[in-house]
Parts: sequence; structure tokens; C-alpha cells
Amino acid sequence: MNDGSTEEPTVIAVADGMGGAVGGEVASRIAIEAAMAEPADAAIEPADRVRAGNDAVLAAIEEDYTLSGMGTTLTLGLFLPAGLLRIAHIGDSRLYLLRNGVLEQLTKDHTLVAELVAMGQITPEEAETHPRRNLVTKVIGTPEISVDEFDIDLKPGDRVVICSDGLNAMVRDDAIAKILTDSWAPSDAAWSLIEAANAAGGADNTTVAVVDVSL
Ligand code: MG
Repeated sequence: MNDGSTEEPTVIAVADGMGGAVGGEVASRIAIEAAMAEPADAAIEPADRVRAGNDAVLAAIEEDYTLSGMGTTLTLGLFLPAGLLRIAHIGDSRLYLLRNGVLEQLTKDHTLVAELVAMGQITPEEAETHPRRNLVTKVIGTPEISVDEFDIDLKPGDRVVICSDGLNAMVRDDAIAKILTDSWAPSDAAWSLIEAANAAGGADNTTVAVVDVSL
């Protein structure tokens, strides 16, 4: 785990693979490698990194048909020195912002249940126990992807979290907020979140990155 601080442009990304015996692991690794292949630089659109990840996963499937059906989420943030955070996202990993003690999910989940909630067909509470809650509607590893992209201005004291659904499936947002508020160092916060997910049953692998903003 990188516990360093930097004033350079920085890309932080989480990919959560799915499909096949080993396919998910392969897909997430390939997507991250391709997304990170170019140096962190404001000139490269974050969404282009996600598309590069998709192209690489599709190419790997083409080369080895046994990998077909593999896919991965990819949630990527380009942190720029003036406090600009540029986000590109596909899938059900999440990017959260903790600001003044308030936790906000900035990314949308590309899941069936999130769509049903948005359409008013089920409540957020029903989504938590819905039998198809794991169904991801957009994913890396499909020919035509649409990548969510947006920018936000960060402030000193902001804490940004990028995580796989292994965290938020096991730990409610209010508990995530409390852990983030109670933890001092970003690495402590990340480990505490992973421990909380495991303590709650840890039904899935959990990946967490925590970034503190000091401008
Ligand atoms: Mg997962």
C-alpha cells in the first residue's frame, strides 16, 4: 500500500473483476495496466484510460477465447495539483467524497438495482437485499462502453475513497463515514474499512484506496 504524499498529478484506480474461474482476476489486472500505461498527466482524458482498459481486455479475450465473459469494473480518478479531481467510471465500484464529515457517493452504480431505484420501482432498502443486486449493467470487457466522466473541485481536508463493492455491500455508508472520520492517516482508514468489511462477513474481496487532500 502506497502511503506517500505527492504534489504531482496522480492517477488512482480500482478495478473489480468478474467472470470465469480466473477471468475476473485477469480482466482487472489487464484493465489497470492499460489504464495506467501512460504517465499521470493532465493531457490524457481519464475516460480514455478507461477505454484503453476496455480495448486491452477485449484484445485479451480475442487472443484467448477461454477468457470470454470476463469483465471488470474500473473507477479512476486523476488528481491534479490545483485540487481538480477528474473521474472516469464504469461498473459498481464507488468513489466517495468525505467533506466536513459528510460522506457522498459521487459515482453512480451501474447495476440493475440502482436503475430500479432510480426509476422508483424499488426502494434503496429493497435494493440492499434484492436477489439480483449483484447484476452489473455496464462493465469493461464489452464492445461498446459508455464511460461516466465528471470533474469536481477538491478542498483541503477532503478525503476521497475509491472502493470495490466488497466494502459497500458489507458496510453501510454511515459506518463508512464514521470510520473515515475516526481514522487519522489514509492508510489507517483504508485498513479499518477493509477490516470492517471482513468483520461483517467479507463475502467478497475488498479493495479500498483513500486519498487525503491538502492544497
Ligand atoms: Mg466485487
